[in-house]
Amino acid sequence: MIKPDGVQRGLVGEIISRFEKKGFLLKGLKLYQCSKDLAQEHYKDLKDKPFFPRLVDYITSGPVVCMAWEGDGVVASARKLIGATNPLQAEPGTIRGDLAVRTGRNVVHGSDSPDNGKREISLWFKEGELCQWESVQIPWLV
Ligand code: ADP
Ligand code: MG
Repeated sequence: MIKPDGVQRGLVGEIISRFEKKGFLLKGLKLYQCSKDLAQEHYKDLKDKPFFPRLVDYITSGPVVCMAWEGDGVVASARKLIGATNPLQAEPGTIRGDLAVRTGRNVVHGSDSPDNGKREISLWFKEGELCQWESVQIPWLV
């Protein structure tokens, strides 16, 4: 998910491009203004953290871009492409390492496990919003 700061800073194309270029398949995509309830549910594991109210305000401060990406090892690979939570510790070459400075404005979210990926897709997308399609690939290059 591209967070509101990523949308407001005009980084939507840049961020989508990194996942596309890596070779993952885009199965769902939408611009979406989420409710406080959804933000709280999405981040429910962090509800006891002191920054939780500010995190919910941040995620609901403007539209986000919800994305569902598919591919081998996509969850772990996306986390690598995204970089460390604190952008100052994220490696150059990662999205956060290249495009962000503050933990509280780190431009992008990525699911931290395949199970959470499924949970988050069902939270953020309605049935019928995902597309089933395959890329045309030459078999011996797969
Ligand atoms: P990640 O997004 O890398 O999976 P977490 O799941 O730990 O990181 O935290 C979720 C989000 O909460 C972070 O991406 C960041 O926006 C915010 N956050 C985490 N830690 C802090 C903090 N110490 N202060 C402010 N915001 C934070
Ligand atoms: Mg997380």
